[in-house]
Amino acid sequence: MTATVIDGKAFAAKVRAQVATHVERLRHDHGVTPGLAVVLVGEDPASQVYVRSKGKMTVEVGMTSFEHKLAAHVTEAELLALIAQLNNDPAVHGILVQLPLPGHLDSDLVINAIDPAKDVDGFHISNVGLLATGQKAMVPCTPLGCLMMLRDHHGSLSGMEAVIIGRSNIVGKPMAQLLLGDSCTVTIAHSRTRNLAEVVRRADIVVAAVGRAQMVPGGWIKPGATVIDVGINRVDAPQGGTRLVGDVDYDSCAQVAGAITPVPGGVGPMTIACLLANTITACCRAHGLPEPEALTA
Ligand code: NAD
Repeated sequence: MTATVIDGKAFAAKVRAQVATHVERLRHDHGVTPGLAVVLVGEDPASQVYVRSKGKMTVEVGMTSFEHKLAAHVTEAELLALIAQLNNDPAVHGILVQLPLPGHLDSDLVINAIDPAKDVDGFHISNVGLLATGQKAMVPCTPLGCLMMLRDHHGSLSGMEAVIIGRSNIVGKPMAQLLLGDSCTVTIAHSRTRNLAEVVRRADIVVAAVGRAQMVPGGWIKPGATVIDVGINRVDAPQGGTRLVGDVDYDSCAQVAGAITPVPGGVGPMTIACLLANTITACCRAHGLPEPEALTA
């Protein structure tokens, strides 16, 4: 079997187009322009690239982008003061603090200072609790993107056996909550899981979020299963230089799986698209307007 490739790049473009349509409607019908504020502390090159592309896409869909770049030595008090200012700014509907933060700043404290209604990353403890209890939350962008692709491919996920490899707060755990919400039977595997191959082999849906290049071989995949590869790993390319690979061994998994997301061009593009979707959701909720169902969990 050769797997169907789930094209995250094309899907993300579709989501951004839906977001743009919604932005235009909000502006035209209600005089509201959604605004997304991104806070970057320090000079981490990867974070700078992410923030730049977030800003560009925010503007492309017609939203207002607010960028706040702070020096690496900013104090916690200064950062918290900026967050308080953004919390109180009615033009700002979404706030994202780019992680990781420099070591002298307490990430949990900073994230929990964001107004949960503006927490478009879905990392605030209130949103984590709302998601875990099946209530209306802001949902973390990467797992939301994975869920959208899975729903698009399968329709209903009810009763499917899902195995998530990785138990991080930003991917593994919220992914598990979302799949549970869609009535999957969910297993979270992690670094201490025994017989990982056997656990993965029973899954109709495998979500790999580990951060280890190509660690899942095709031999672990149940024939016909759907494989969602969240991993982004830079490795040496055979012809020199480097290239990006996922957490699954794409070539061998694609021989066995029913469907698979590539790296790059799978989950990655969906993450930023879902950030924009979350900003629309936050904006609609702030103004008491109906939120676009296709763009939420
Ligand atoms: P993390 O380091 O916080 O968590 C990794 C998880 O993998 C841990 O829970 C750990 O228990 C598990 N793990 C480690 N070694 C294992 C092993 N040998 N077997 C089974 N499980 C093992 O990572 P994260 O933040 O969840 O990110 C995971 C990957 O996803 C990374 O490659 C990251 O770059 C990528 N990522 C991609 C996007 C995107 O937009 N595509 C977003 C977030 C993260």
